[in-house]
Amino acid sequence: MLRRFQNYIDGGFEDGSASFESINPATGVSWAIMPAASEADVERAVQAAHRAFSAPSWADLTASQRGKLLYKLADLVERHAPRLAELETADTGKIIRETRSQIGYVAEYYRYYAGLADKIQGMHLPADKIDMEVYLRREPIGVVAGIVPWNSQLFLSAVKIGPALAAGCTIVIKASEEGPAPLLEFARLVHEAGFPHGVVNIITGFGADCGRALTSHPLVSRIAFTGGPETARHIVRNSAENLAFTTLELGGKSPVLVFDDVDVDSVANGIIAGIFAATGQSCVAGSRLLVQRGVRDRLLEKLVAKAKLIRIGNPQSEDTEMGPLATKRQLEHINSVVARSIAAGATVLTGGRQPSGFDTGFYYQPTILSCPDQHIPSVTEELFGPVLSVVTFDTEAEAIELANSSEYGLASGVFTRDLTRAHKLIRALRAGIVWVNTYRAVSPIVPFGGYKQSGLGREGGMESVLDYTRTKSVWIRTSDEPIQDPFVMR
Ligand code: NAD
Repeated sequence: MLRRFQNYIDGGFEDGSASFESINPATGVSWAIMPAASEADVERAVQAAHRAFSAPSWADLTASQRGKLLYKLADLVERHAPRLAELETADTGKIIRETRSQIGYVAEYYRYYAGLADKIQGMHLPADKIDMEVYLRREPIGVVAGIVPWNSQLFLSAVKIGPALAAGCTIVIKASEEGPAPLLEFARLVHEAGFPHGVVNIITGFGADCGRALTSHPLVSRIAFTGGPETARHIVRNSAENLAFTTLELGGKSPVLVFDDVDVDSVANGIIAGIFAATGQSCVAGSRLLVQRGVRDRLLEKLVAKAKLIRIGNPQSEDTEMGPLATKRQLEHINSVVARSIAAGATVLTGGRQPSGFDTGFYYQPTILSCPDQHIPSVTEELFGPVLSVVTFDTEAEAIELANSSEYGLASGVFTRDLTRAHKLIRALRAGIVWVNTYRAVSPIVPFGGYKQSGLGREGGMESVLDYTRTKSVWIRTSDEPIQDPFVMR
């Protein structure tokens, strides 16, 4: 018996117009039936969100009341985190230790946005007219279309649902067709929290019909997309239909720069966590290691030894350190980029294939490739897998040039004990995040987003909530003098 999941539209749980089977990546076998929302389902979800946007049950809530609903949702997420984590692990192969701790932290994201709901303020303006009071109201932008990829769906939807609801918007979120179970189950918590019907709608379906219908819908005013750059181009074209304000969180090929002066042991742990956590399927994965020649051999020796010790296994098991890739497509993609990289001159220091004994699931070994230059495919292309590509540099200037040579610019890491050098690099790196002597720290309070092909706009932080509002300029004439007849010259 396969488990069955449903869409959540206008406060009701329903099967999609069609359905599809979801595969457990650890076994390669179907484990659940998912609803596939059709264009008609999308239409009903957007119409529900549109009605809910101006219905008194939502529009007349005070900001603090919206905040209270979000606090309630946060508590529910925290309480149900273990169950949601098991579902995410079953549907995506991400290990249980990671899903449990990440979903626990998702509750903190909802708390952050709950607290912001009544801090979204307008402004009084000192306009250059003596008899006018002028102020700005900040109003919710309208119906939001949220699109998320298959990795970390609860987390990536929290940074859309949270600010949207804090601002007073309504939302239709499309879970990825790959691994949608935790997000569809999360809809039950939204329901239990007591949001009015239609305020949050959660559906899943395929990009070409469901995703396109949602992001081009004329009643959608705001699109919040996370996914790959190719899909982002479709989204931007879709938004030509509704001219919705659009933010894009896209891929990365984030460099980690390591200089000669570091403590090799400590840095090795940072690099391993940066690339092999979540089996490398993370937009901020530190997938390009740029290492100064003097420390290269010592560091690589440590990294290879540590990578070989990583325990690969059943993602539901507590002691597994690396699970499978989420899909067969991902496995094929990684195999192909690694093969092209070797053909172009890369050397495999460890890994480079599927581990033995795991041929039914979508497993891949932790892999380190030594690359002669930055033109090797594994250095330029996003793999979204457990593959670290290493390039050597001699000077600081060379390191900056290598780091910035990517078309992406999401995150970056700098390991050095030299404070002056660190500050120089912080200024020089073309990336939305610079981590110094650490990697992968995130917080709801800190904006997140990329430069270049890594995206447009930021999620997290106060800035992101304002992106779910628009201003209305209000002019109030305060003079008692009658308004002059415009056609009588004085
Ligand atoms: P993807 O771009 O293939 O799919 C993302 C979502 O877009 C899915 O829900 C999909 O159904 C939908 N979609 C596909 N075609 C569409 C269309 N024409 N119109 C509307 N929607 C459409 O991405 P993926 O393979 O699921 O995820 C991996 C990518 O996501 C990587 O590039 C990764 O770096 C990126 N990512 C970025 C961040 C970030 O915050 N910057 C976070 C996680 C993942």
